[in-house]
Amino acid sequence: MYDIIIIGTGPIGAGAARHASAAGAKIAVIGPNEAPRDTHTVWSSHYDAARLTHRSARNVQLAQYALEAIANYRIIEAQSGISFYTPCGTLSLSHDLGGFSYTSQRTAIEQALGFTYVDYPPHQITHAFPMLSADLGYHGVYDGPPSGYIAPRAMVAAQLTCAQQQGATVVRDIVTQLTPHSDFVTVTTSDGATLRATRVILAAGAYSGLCGLLPTPVPHTIKSETVTLGRVSATTAARMATMPSMMVDCVSDVISDAYLTPPLQYPDGEWYFKLGSNSIHDLFFDTLPGLQQWIKNGDMKATQLAQIALLKQLFAGVEWLDFTSLPCVITRTPDGVPTIGNVHPRVTAVIGCNGSLAKSGDTIGRVAFELAHAS
Ligand SMILES: Cc1cc2nc3c(=O)[nH]c(=O)nc-3n(C[C@H](O)[C@H](O)[C@H](O)COP(=O)(O)OP(=O)(O)OC[C@H]3O[C@@H](n4cnc5c(N)ncnc54)[C@H](O)[C@@H]3O)c2cc1C
Repeated sequence: MYDIIIIGTGPIGAGAARHASAAGAKIAVIGPNEAPRDTHTVWSSHYDAARLTHRSARNVQLAQYALEAIANYRIIEAQSGISFYTPCGTLSLSHDLGGFSYTSQRTAIEQALGFTYVDYPPHQITHAFPMLSADLGYHGVYDGPPSGYIAPRAMVAAQLTCAQQQGATVVRDIVTQLTPHSDFVTVTTSDGATLRATRVILAAGAYSGLCGLLPTPVPHTIKSETVTLGRVSATTAARMATMPSMMVDCVSDVISDAYLTPPLQYPDGEWYFKLGSNSIHDLFFDTLPGLQQWIKNGDMKATQLAQIALLKQLFAGVEWLDFTSLPCVITRTPDGVPTIGNVHPRVTAVIGCNGSLAKSGDTIGRVAFELAHAS
């Protein structure tokens, strides 16, 4: 019998596992190894080379969660021996910074977190960030280091390594059933194993609801997300080495709320800019087969064209070798902040990372563990 079973080995489940095991709880954390797109059963929101990390957020509490997580990155890297963090700063670009979700709370966040953004009027942007095209017309708000980007797969591996060092059991399987009883919870996996615990933390991202694991419903939607990788030469990538991560309140009929990371070397050895965004062509899923079909073979053509156009507009001096788009998934709550709560007296769930909480997964995992522990 475990004290806590954590379902999901993403940034949040791994964060919960790290904190719970550090507190001395006997825990198991369950989630599959990454499967190929063509044959996957469950995917994840963090299978990528980079996720932006920054203090800009939709409210002060989320900014504080991010700051706490950022402060722990080097500790996790040192304990695990796995590097995942690059503090290159982040730059928000918008014609209307006050209306941009990531900069509208800037004054409250500056006061609460004790730092100051640096402002760049449109005519100074290319002086400070010469990799950008001239005459874009955007205002810039720069959130310098410790903001930047993380490698989410490596961060999760590091969190799980720390958890295992602290006594956690990692089970590489998919949970098919969660059954709460009066004194304990039973969890069944696709291999047919049955595990029992006093409590469960459910952190399976988009799949918590789609796999039928939520004992009571939590309002959320599951949305397609498209990213486009722009391949460049190693020489171009080296020329862009000082580039920050960026969020762009772009003007487009098709896409909005774009974000991008500097050119990074992907597992295939090539160098890619990555740009993602919302799109008017985004889809919403309420069945597992519907989401599986999107992840395996989603039609991204219209969104890809708009994302390529934005990349070319932002970086006029770059010689692009080719473009590839990839389907992903995010989970949203009605108020745009994650729901961290008890969905049964013995089950705590985290639902709705709203496309922006890989960076804070370690803190959200802590909050979920503390709620589960106190319940
Ligand atoms: C394209 C894209 C770009 C993004 N950009 C950013 C960004 O720049 N910065 C940022 O901070 N965030 C970003 N996000 C959001 C971020 O990736 C998510 O908020 C984060 O991954 C959520 O973590 P999670 O642990 O809740 O879920 P996930 O990362 O989805 O992990 C859930 C885990 O649960 C496992 N699982 C699923 N079902 C089961 C089951 N039945 N049994 C056991 N295990 C199961 C999965 O295998 C997976 O490993 C982005 C997301 C996308 C899709």
